[in-house]
Amino acid sequence: PDAENCTGKWAVYEEFQSDNSGYRLKLAAEINAAIEQGSFELYHQPQVDLKTMRVCGSECLIRWHYDGENLSEQGFIPPTAFIPVAEDMGLINKLTRWVIKQAIAQHSVLLAQGYKHHMVSINISGKDICAEGFYEYVAAEIEAAEIAANKIVFELTESATITNNAQALEVIELLTELGVTISIDDFGTGYASMAYVSELPFKELKVDRQFVQDVGDDKKRRTIAETTVRMAKGLGLEVVAEGINSQKDENLLRQFGCDIGQGYFYAKPMAFDDYLEWLTDEVNGRSPEPLEGEFISK
Ligand code: C2E
Ligand code: MG
Ligand code: MG
Ligand code: MG
Repeated sequence: PDAENCTGKWAVYEEFQSDNSGYRLKLAAEINAAIEQGSFELYHQPQVDLKTMRVCGSECLIRWHYDGENLSEQGFIPPTAFIPVAEDMGLINKLTRWVIKQAIAQHSVLLAQGYKHHMVSINISGKDICAEGFYEYVAAEIEAAEIAANKIVFELTESATITNNAQALEVIELLTELGVTISIDDFGTGYASMAYVSELPFKELKVDRQFVQDVGDDKKRRTIAETTVRMAKGLGLEVVAEGINSQKDENLLRQFGCDIGQGYFYAKPMAFDDYLEWLTDEVNGRSPEPLEGEFISK
C-alpha cells in the first residue's frame, strides 16, 4: 500500500465532515489505541537548500496504517483526516509527545550516520503549545537524547489560539531560548499576518503550497509567492517553500529569494529507512554535487 496516494480516499473524511459524533468517538478510541500500541510511523520529506542544492533537513509527517476492524476501511488514513479529530478529542498532546520522541530518536540516528547539520522539522498543534508541561517535556527529551536543540524545528500552523494567549507566547519564548526554531506553517492560508509573524519569535516561515505549485502559470499566485518571500526575508526570516513540483517552480522561488524548497519535485515523504537510503543515493535529488553526508546547515 502506498501512503502517499491515500489522500481523499478515506470515508473518515465524510464521516468527520458529517459531524457524526459516534464515528468520531470510535476514531478517537482507535487513535488512542494506536498511540499506545506504537502503530503510527513518521515519514520524512527532504528539504533542499536552494543555494547549494543539498539536503539541509527533513519534515516528519505522521502516517497511520490502520488494520483494525472498528473503522469502515483499512489502509493508510491521511493525517488531515485524523489530526483534527485528535485535536478536538483531547488526544493531540499525547500524540505529539509520541511524534517528538520518535523524531528525536530518528534525529539521533541521522547524527550517528554523520549528518551533523541535518535539521528535523516536527509538526505541532497550537493546542500543544498551550498544554500543561509541554515545554518541560520537550526540554527533558532533548536533554535525555543529548542532542543540540538547534537542529530541531517546530512547525506551527498559524492559528488564533496562540495570538492572544500569554501562556502560549511564554512557551514559544522558552522554546526559542532553548534553541528550537519555531516555524510558521502554511503561511497565507489562515489568520497570521506579517505583523503577527514579525512580533513573535518565529525564525522560519513556510509558504503554503497553494502559492508555490505551478507558480509560473498564474500571475496572482506568482505575486503572492514573490511578495510573501520578499517580505519574510525583509523581516529576517528563513523561508521555506512547500509544494515545489517542477524545475520551473524551483527557479522562480530561488529568484524570489527563498532559502529552502520542499516538494514532490525532490521526493515524496518516505519511511525513515527509505529516507536514510535515499540520502546516500547520489542520483536522488537535484544535487550537482554528491551528497556524501556532507550537509549544509540552514
Ligand atoms: P503540512 O505540515 O503543511 O505538511 C505538508 C503536506 O504537504 C504533507 O501532507 C506532504 O505530504 C504534502 N506535500 C509535500 N510536498 C507536496 C507536493 O509537492 N505536492 C503535494 N500535493 N503535496 C505535497 P501530509 O503528510 O498528508 O500532511 C498533511 C498535514 O497534516 C500536514 O500539513 C500537517 O498539518 C498535518 N500533519 C502531518 N503530520 C503531522 C504530525 O506529526 N503532527 C501534527 N500535529 N500534524 C501533522
Ligand atoms: Mg508542516
Ligand atoms: Mg506546511
Ligand atoms: Mg500545507
